[in-house]
Amino acid sequence: MFDNLTDKFDAVFKKLSGKGRLTESHVDEAMREVRLVLLEADVNFKVVKDFVAAVRERAVGTDVLKSLTPAQQVIKIVRDELGRLMGEGDNAALDLAAQPPVPIMLCGLQGAGKTTTCGKLALQLRRDKRDPLLVPADIYRPAAIEQLKTLGRQLGVAVFDTQPGDDPVSICEQAREFARLNGHDTLILDTAGRLHIDSELMDELGRINDALQPREILFVADAMTGQDAVNVVKSFDEKLDITGVVLTKLDGDARGGAALSVRAVTGKPIKFVGMGEKMDALEVFHPDRMAQRILG
Ligand code: GDP
Repeated sequence: MFDNLTDKFDAVFKKLSGKGRLTESHVDEAMREVRLVLLEADVNFKVVKDFVAAVRERAVGTDVLKSLTPAQQVIKIVRDELGRLMGEGDNAALDLAAQPPVPIMLCGLQGAGKTTTCGKLALQLRRDKRDPLLVPADIYRPAAIEQLKTLGRQLGVAVFDTQPGDDPVSICEQAREFARLNGHDTLILDTAGRLHIDSELMDELGRINDALQPREILFVADAMTGQDAVNVVKSFDEKLDITGVVLTKLDGDARGGAALSVRAVTGKPIKFVGMGEKMDALEVFHPDRMAQRILG
């Protein structure tokens, strides 16, 4: 994960550490390099600009350069600012404090990893002693319904018996009723995805949103698609006011552009990251730990 990014930061910092005493122009040179590293990682242009300005201001504006370990201090500032960029201080926990059954809606483009993430989330919730009901609400891709039913069987988690011809809103309402009657405290709604954003899909998600009032609306984005992922999150957020992002396929992402940009561009927290295809490969996102990991 983020191998390219880690290697390049390492090279910049090695050079800086080799300088001994630092001057403002050393910092400027390092910041020019950091800027390139981030742009090559496919981080949003404006995000890079603000990031570099913030690091520079802290690095030259205080006693950092006069300290005994100036390069270490600059590296620490970069690490702090990376953490801040990814949402350090956000509360990433799911907010499930509501009258059960509490609906969580997952949305995203086709192939992003929604159905897989629904299964992973069900497993985590069960470990937290909750009793989730998985709800297949993607009626356009019958394989998606089967996929969720199979995952449910593997995990021993209940799956609502969606019939392919039903209306998605009515499926979700029926599932809520089923959950009430059968004591499930959480609904995980697996909604339809398309290859691209289209207004019909947005309408449908809007109707599910109105009918179920999900406590959490998680947008599932494929980290490997970089800035495209960030733009799609932004469009969905404008329509649905999402509560957070799940970044999938981070295990295969060598660049890191989506992870570093999405919080700054959308203002919405990354709540989880997908680190593999297996059901236990979902991690709660910690910006500070991620910054540490990126800097190696
Ligand atoms: P959906 O169309 O959004 O429901 O996407 P799926 O859940 O069917 O996932 C599409 C593909 O991505 C499947 O092959 C998943 O195994 C894979 N996938 C999902 N999440 C991850 C992840 O975090 N890491 C990796 N490596 N693959 C993932």
